[in-house]
Amino acid sequence: MDELRPRVLSDLEDDALAPAAEAFTRIAVDYFAATRKGEGPVSTPLDAAELARRFDEPLPAEGRPLEEVVERLRVDVLADSNRLCHPRSMGHQVSAPLPAAVWTESLIAALNQSGAVQEMSPVGTAVENRIVRWMCDLAGFGPRAGGTFTSGGTEATFTALLAARAASLPSAWKDGVGAEPPVVLHGEHAHYAVARAVGALGLGTDAAIAIPSDGWRMDVSALEAALRRQEECGRRVMAVVATAGSTATGSFDDLDAVGRLCEERGLWLHVDGAHGASALFSSTHRGRLRGIERARSLAWDPHKMMLMPLSAGVVLVRDERDLDAAFAQRAPYLFHGAEGERSPDQGKRSFQCSRRLDALKVWVALQRYGAGGVGALYDHLCATARAFHAAIGRREPFEALHEPEANILCFRYVGDRSLDPERLDALNLRLRELFNRSGEGWITTTVLGGKRVLRVTVMNPRTTGSDVERVLDGLERTGRQLAEG
Ligand SMILES: *Cc1c(COP(=O)(O)O)cnc(C)c1O
Repeated sequence: MDELRPRVLSDLEDDALAPAAEAFTRIAVDYFAATRKGEGPVSTPLDAAELARRFDEPLPAEGRPLEEVVERLRVDVLADSNRLCHPRSMGHQVSAPLPAAVWTESLIAALNQSGAVQEMSPVGTAVENRIVRWMCDLAGFGPRAGGTFTSGGTEATFTALLAARAASLPSAWKDGVGAEPPVVLHGEHAHYAVARAVGALGLGTDAAIAIPSDGWRMDVSALEAALRRQEECGRRVMAVVATAGSTATGSFDDLDAVGRLCEERGLWLHVDGAHGASALFSSTHRGRLRGIERARSLAWDPHKMMLMPLSAGVVLVRDERDLDAAFAQRAPYLFHGAEGERSPDQGKRSFQCSRRLDALKVWVALQRYGAGGVGALYDHLCATARAFHAAIGRREPFEALHEPEANILCFRYVGDRSLDPERLDALNLRLRELFNRSGEGWITTTVLGGKRVLRVTVMNPRTTGSDVERVLDGLERTGRQLAEG
């Protein structure tokens, strides 16, 4: 080992020079170029076992030249990764990331400022607090608002509900939630992050009560009835969770109506806007979030519709003290400052300790493209989803399950409408699998209203109307083969 030490120390210096950096950026640039025109497959035809075999090798005892490692990235990693920048990639809610934010990632890593504590990220903390403030302003939260970056929407919703728990059961941190914990009401199409948080917070998942929907959004009168039932049986409500941009259909709950119900009863409203809160950047779509300012907390993922590379999430609260109260812990070795005064240390408000400075790439993206540019991209993605919906309307063998409110659309192959429901469900499931394996495009599937459906999410500004037609051509061809076979 001793003879290795000087070599590795000198390798570190070589790898810090421009040629090494260029070797990495070159692959990324080539990837952007190779996917620009929609050539080549969207995803790999190889299955999990085949890919595992490629990496089935002993732990490398010694290093090797950087060029060889970069070449392996190109051949073994890049070639079979899902190509989200390909214009016919329309799968999950993961972006074709904004290039300026992509390049910022290497700077975030190079600087390695831990976002937990001001003294460890003096500029980073200022940048993060600034972005949080901008987002609070967009949400119409007042001067007392605050928040923190998170790993994503799941952590954001967990943190928000932890704050709601501290408000509802201040002693729960120390004493636990007791035998009769309060309940959380949420729409039936809420993300699993809600029930997961309820479970993780010790309330028991029976305390997560699903409210039926009306047109894929939370039925407000059903919510009102459920709130009345809780009052009648004397059970406390810890929070109501509304969704702004649901995972399945991209639908927006009526935040104004839900917010009023919560205000009348003094209840905590959490809005899961992981997907849809970015509509606040769009003058066309902002109205879907009318009433957002009634929320006590908001989850908002820049890595969804602000097209950041993974990961970047944010939780905002209308009163920052609610977040400070959520984590009632001290750590004299880390957090300084007197009790009661506002601390710039984000670690006090966050589940995470060591933390990447994800705020920096959001800041760079806003500097480069502006709030207007981010809003224009939001509109563009939604317009492409609407074009998809219109194209389905022109094709007999398909039916749409809803009009897209955002960039998400569920539809299904129905052929000549002669197949029975079970057969159709099986066909659509198989159709998605075969289509994705073809490399022609990449879509997802879910179950909606008891039916197996196909689902697209437009997360790539490069996707055009002709990509939409080509995806539908491929699905139609495959669907016909399956219906005949
Ligand atoms: C994506 C999403 C989540 C989960 O967020 P992650 O960033 O994946 O943790 C939660 N809720 C909604 C509505 C989402 O779209």
